[in-house]
Amino acid sequence: MEKRIRHIGIIGSTGSIGTQTLDIVRSNDDLKVEILSCAGNNLDMFEAQVREFLPKKVCVWQETAAKDFADRVKDLSVKVVSGMDGLIEVSTYENMEILVTAVVGMIGIRPTIEAIKAGKDIALANKETLVTAGHIIMPFAKEYGVRILPVDSEHSAVFQSLNGENPKTIEKLYITASGGPFRGMTLEEMKNKKPSDALKHPNWAMGKKITIDSATMVNKGLEVMEAKWLFDVDVDRIEVVVQPQSIIHSMVGFTDGSIIAQLGLPDMKLPIQYALYYPDRVQMVSRRLDFPSLARITFEAPDLDNFKGLALAYKAIEKGGSMPTVFNAANEWAVAKFLDERIGFTEIADRIEEAMDMHKVIANPNVQDILDTEKWVGEYLDRTV
Ligand code: NDP
Ligand code: MG
Repeated sequence: MEKRIRHIGIIGSTGSIGTQTLDIVRSNDDLKVEILSCAGNNLDMFEAQVREFLPKKVCVWQETAAKDFADRVKDLSVKVVSGMDGLIEVSTYENMEILVTAVVGMIGIRPTIEAIKAGKDIALANKETLVTAGHIIMPFAKEYGVRILPVDSEHSAVFQSLNGENPKTIEKLYITASGGPFRGMTLEEMKNKKPSDALKHPNWAMGKKITIDSATMVNKGLEVMEAKWLFDVDVDRIEVVVQPQSIIHSMVGFTDGSIIAQLGLPDMKLPIQYALYYPDRVQMVSRRLDFPSLARITFEAPDLDNFKGLALAYKAIEKGGSMPTVFNAANEWAVAKFLDERIGFTEIADRIEEAMDMHKVIANPNVQDILDTEKWVGEYLDRTV
């Protein structure tokens, strides 16, 4: 492998993916951090990151937090910006080659598009971007000759399984799911689950929003949508398979009947590092999979009756256009309300369904249509509480 400095940036550096990306930077002296960004909720951590990695520019989304932050780091030569203009400024920074999009939510759309236009490769963690704007992002990536490198473990697994293969020979994508903490439960059993129950994921330590999405299986629905755009495969050829041990991260079936899978212990550092160095592999110090102690890997079909969120995702894909945005925005709204204990666990899927029922699909939404649809969903659902 050619040894050269890789100049990277991270938006969402104080989150689960962001901090694990910085762990990888710590273990690899050929990765240089050029920009960092956060919302402004964890300024102590962000300050420690900026002092350690010395980026040239940083964005703190919230304006008052950004002013406070600029004061904290006035002894350093770092430019502090804020808001959407700031987020776009750091995401398009000239000395950066690859941007890790580790922000949570639809806020990721515009900076990702601008980064692509500025020729940056994207290490994509923020799944909401492709879910809502995949039809805009993928053609842009092609036009500007940039790579969209998946960070989500399932998509990284598919991406790795496709290495050297002809995409025309893909028969099926098998997206694996752990089933989350409530696997096997009925709607009735899940009805009174609290955020503290839903936040206990059996295999993965992740940010709060995606952990709730795993408990509802909405996350798997978002991942099916993401897979459709990333790999250009129709949704009727994307199958969700529950694999509770989270050892098989996803699989590709080919036209000759062969199935290639990627396996490993559940650790996001592997797909993050793979995206940063693609197509190379570099050494990683981590625990290794031990087959005898694992003993077995088991499979189940997903339960679409009790996990309505996944069934609704397929419905949203079928309707297409702006419907996946409604699915996603209603979910973001409902998860925030559930975390605040304003609505119950099973109401998350109910609210998604309600918003989808009320929505008139826009066939080929542009970015403004997508953002307007998100706003409409929030306003509509706000009137229901
Ligand atoms: P977290 O909630 O842990 O972190 C979110 C990060 O985004 C924080 O750094 C937060 O800053 C920052 N942020 C939020 N809003 C803004 C904003 N407006 N401007 C700048 N920064 C902002 O999320 P995760 O790391 O879990 O997830 C990030 C994305 O990756 C999500 O889309 C998720 O679905 C996806 N993903 C995550 C996986 C995981 O293992 N965690 C696996 C696969 C995909 P602050 O600290 O200030 O709030
Ligand atoms: Mg995933």
